[in-house]
Amino acid sequence: MTQRHYFLQHVAQTSKAPIAIEIARAEGCRLWDVNGKSYLDLIAGISVANTGHRHPKILAAIEKQLQNYMHVMVYGELIESPQVHYARALVQNLPSNLNSVYFTNSGAEAVEGAMKLAKRFTGRTNIASFDKSYHGSTQGALSLMGDEYWRNAFRPLLPGISHLEYDSVPDLDLITPETACVVMEPVQAERGVVIPSLTWINAVQKRCKETGALLILDEIQTGFGRTGSLWAFEQLGFVPDILLLGKALGGGLPLGAFISDINIMKVLTENPVLGHITTFGGHPICCAAGLAGLELLIEEKLVDHVEEKAQIFRKLLVHPRIKSVRSKGLLIAVEFSGFEENKAIIDACIEKGVFSDWFLFAPHCLRIAPPLNISAEEISEACNVILACLS
Ligand code: PLP
Repeated sequence: MTQRHYFLQHVAQTSKAPIAIEIARAEGCRLWDVNGKSYLDLIAGISVANTGHRHPKILAAIEKQLQNYMHVMVYGELIESPQVHYARALVQNLPSNLNSVYFTNSGAEAVEGAMKLAKRFTGRTNIASFDKSYHGSTQGALSLMGDEYWRNAFRPLLPGISHLEYDSVPDLDLITPETACVVMEPVQAERGVVIPSLTWINAVQKRCKETGALLILDEIQTGFGRTGSLWAFEQLGFVPDILLLGKALGGGLPLGAFISDINIMKVLTENPVLGHITTFGGHPICCAAGLAGLELLIEEKLVDHVEEKAQIFRKLLVHPRIKSVRSKGLLIAVEFSGFEENKAIIDACIEKGVFSDWFLFAPHCLRIAPPLNISAEEISEACNVILACLS
């Protein structure tokens, strides 16, 4: 029996056609399979490996923490220095109202914690999210998801959720004084990189202020430099009440976080005490790796070059079969006329050693979200392969 057989038999499957390449190694912007074939990684584990795979500084931070301790106690009881160091570093790189970090294991768990926090702080129960939004797959996060096809089979879900049209000012009237929070992405990644107008962003903020609803910004996919600034909200001229982080937060290890003001966060300490509990959230190894990743982003000034790298992709990706290229920094959707065409191109790219996939709500768009330290040569190599697959 092959490893593929055991993979299909014993590792629970959620897709009828998994890519099923057996990976042997990953380094920088490349993956290698067990046959020694290399792949230029255009998706970074879906916006996780922002500093590339297995960066030596991240490996050193993991090894250093391994010498001290791994899991010692459930979240929030003992002082675990990796959590404290990382929370401080995050707060130092955020506006002053985002000063208290709750670490979770995943992005979806950060979403769950933030929804609970907003309900508890405001004493309200209704929540607004947006059409074609993706916030994770647990039941609360799924309730927010803006697509009936994905939600319907799992009902009943959370009550009191309104799904508003993204980038539509009139729909904002559905945010009312009964709304606990509005959960929003600064760019709708899984819709195929849809960038809202600044007018709408301003109107969302204004409506939240008018109604007292907390604004929760999901930067799980857009954070850590992906869009050309450390946080996407820096380009939007506002500061959320609660910020959600995940994916690149752990430097390649599992970590999520919801971050808010300590005066909001403290409602989780009473009535009931232990308002949000996790065993492994903020695992010391993950926090050590994440901190090393954040330091790398800053030291190597990776964010400063995101936009110029995005421009190289845009300049090279010109072909009659490409209908459009939408990008916010190195979060790029290359649009084709349909899923069949896109899938055939993705398969051909993988065959030629360039690794990509499509977006959840935009199966006709090829995803480009590489490590931010991808070089100009690697970008040319990737674009040449994509263009060769189109001809
Ligand atoms: N929010 C956004 C915008 C995401 O892209 C994702 C994952 O793709 C999540 C939340 C959920 O994160 P996780 O898969 O870590 O639960």
